[in-house]
Amino acid sequence: MNKKYSMSYETFLKNFKLHISKLGFKNSIQKDYILKILFFSDEHLTAEDISNNIKKEYNIDVGIATVYRTVKFFDEINIINSLDVGDNVKRYELKISEHHDHLVCTSCHKIIEFSDDLIEEKQKNIAKDNNFELKNHTMIIYGLCEDCH
Ligand SMILES: [Zn+2]
Ligand SMILES: [Zn+2]
Repeated sequence: MNKKYSMSYETFLKNFKLHISKLGFKNSIQKDYILKILFFSDEHLTAEDISNNIKKEYNIDVGIATVYRTVKFFDEINIINSLDVGDNVKRYELKISEHHDHLVCTSCHKIIEFSDDLIEEKQKNIAKDNNFELKNHTMIIYGLCEDCH
């Protein structure tokens, strides 16, 4: 799924800054770089990828510990998805892309994105049937990809 966001990075960043200042947090240059890498990447990135990409693209050092702290923060304020592909390394993507779910290959750790209206609808119904207010869901199908089985 190619990430064609409906907003520019500038708009996204402006909204983000507004959002965190309302929550009482301050922005930092490091956060900006991490967001930028996530925004312009089509991949699900590990903390290490993010740190390496910032170095590569902008020649700036943002250490892994800072990236970890920051993605944890982003997760807490609900602007990123974290994905566990079974190798104990979390991968991240911004939540502003169209909602989608994932197939994860447990052998090569490839990630395939998909979205299915029926599945989405079904989940809403299940929540409703259980008198449950649906806020969010994660659906990951684990298995072996075409190359691995
Ligand atoms: Zn595979
Ligand atoms: Zn994804």
